[in-house]
Amino acid sequence: MNNAEAVELGHRAFTPNYKQQPIAIVRGQGLYVWDADGRRYLDMLGGIATCALGHCHPEVTRAVKAQLDKIWHTSNGVYNLPSLQLAERLTQLSFGQRVFLCNSGAEANEAALKLARRFHFAAGHPERVEIVCAEGSFHGRTLGALAATGQPKYHQGVGPLPAGFSFVPYGNLDALQKAIGPKTAAVMLEAIQGEGGVRVAPNGYLAGVRKLCDEAGLLWIADEVQTGMGRTGTLWAYEQEGATPDVMTLAKALGNGLPIGAALATEKVGAALTPGTHASTFGGNAVACTAALAVLEIIERDGLLEACRDAGEYLAGRLYELRRRPAGDKIVEVRGRGLLWGLVLDREAAPVVARCRELGMIVNVAGEKVVRLAPALIVEPTQLDEAVDVLTRALA
Ligand code: PLP
Repeated sequence: MNNAEAVELGHRAFTPNYKQQPIAIVRGQGLYVWDADGRRYLDMLGGIATCALGHCHPEVTRAVKAQLDKIWHTSNGVYNLPSLQLAERLTQLSFGQRVFLCNSGAEANEAALKLARRFHFAAGHPERVEIVCAEGSFHGRTLGALAATGQPKYHQGVGPLPAGFSFVPYGNLDALQKAIGPKTAAVMLEAIQGEGGVRVAPNGYLAGVRKLCDEAGLLWIADEVQTGMGRTGTLWAYEQEGATPDVMTLAKALGNGLPIGAALATEKVGAALTPGTHASTFGGNAVACTAALAVLEIIERDGLLEACRDAGEYLAGRLYELRRRPAGDKIVEVRGRGLLWGLVLDREAAPVVARCRELGMIVNVAGEKVVRLAPALIVEPTQLDEAVDVLTRALA
């Protein structure tokens, strides 16, 4: 099947919910992917911040292949070793003391929302059910995660959504304080709003959120689905604020491309998911957990957090430079952290993204006017130069 045939089949067979680029990717290695016509692309998106070790990392592949020969899946009526080891590793590497494993970011956020409500229910406050979220946020497409998503365009035609969600401007502590009331259970926020356009909160915001939550007896749910796993230069973005959430959700890069998600919680919050209150058939799948264990090990062993910080600094410098050049006159703002960057344009980003693809590079649109870059943490400076070169030509 070539690209044209793939596109034709896609138009015929899929529900038309994605705006797909007219290529089918058939192979990937490191920072590069190849389409069905044999053309190579520099992948500056990594499956949207997912393939953080690059495509088909040989050691993750080897670990997964070995696990495939042992056991793929058990029910959660028994234990499997990779899921136990992963849960232990995640607790060693974060504030989390309890782990719920699932398959996606939305599912991790559903667990977090239930955790928050059940925590207050168990503490004798069943009235505390409301969740304060941010305008412009993105937490996923299931109804609960969607109810927490502060982008009305995603709510259209699918209501009624679960009740009890309110929205405040992202980064504004005064507005957050005013929104908190006696029925509030939790505040749910991204450390950087990725999907909403790579919006970075002002310094001190998350620490302020922690303080407000402590004062009001609320939980802070940190959605690190996109920012976690080293994307911003530390394993978890919250670390950079010296403030620790009560619940954190992960997915995307956790399995380097295999579907896996997790909700981590402190001991006292995690205890609220008592037997029978939550579950997922595939949650803790042995193959996905094996991939995640390998990813965590390689990030640490290969110093990829430092590599991310260095590469991020280099990329930021090149993007700011691009903004000052004639081709950069359409760039309104360059924003991001680590290896998650957004070029805010004075126009729709989709044509620029399409032009990048024609020129041999994959990026995507976040928030309509923003071109998002989220390459693998193993990206080389020469590849970042290549990316800036393509962006320059695409903008011109
Ligand atoms: N939360 C954040 C911050 C995300 O960026 C995303 C996906 O982009 C999600 C949740 C939803 O994750 P998934 O698509 O795996 O359900």
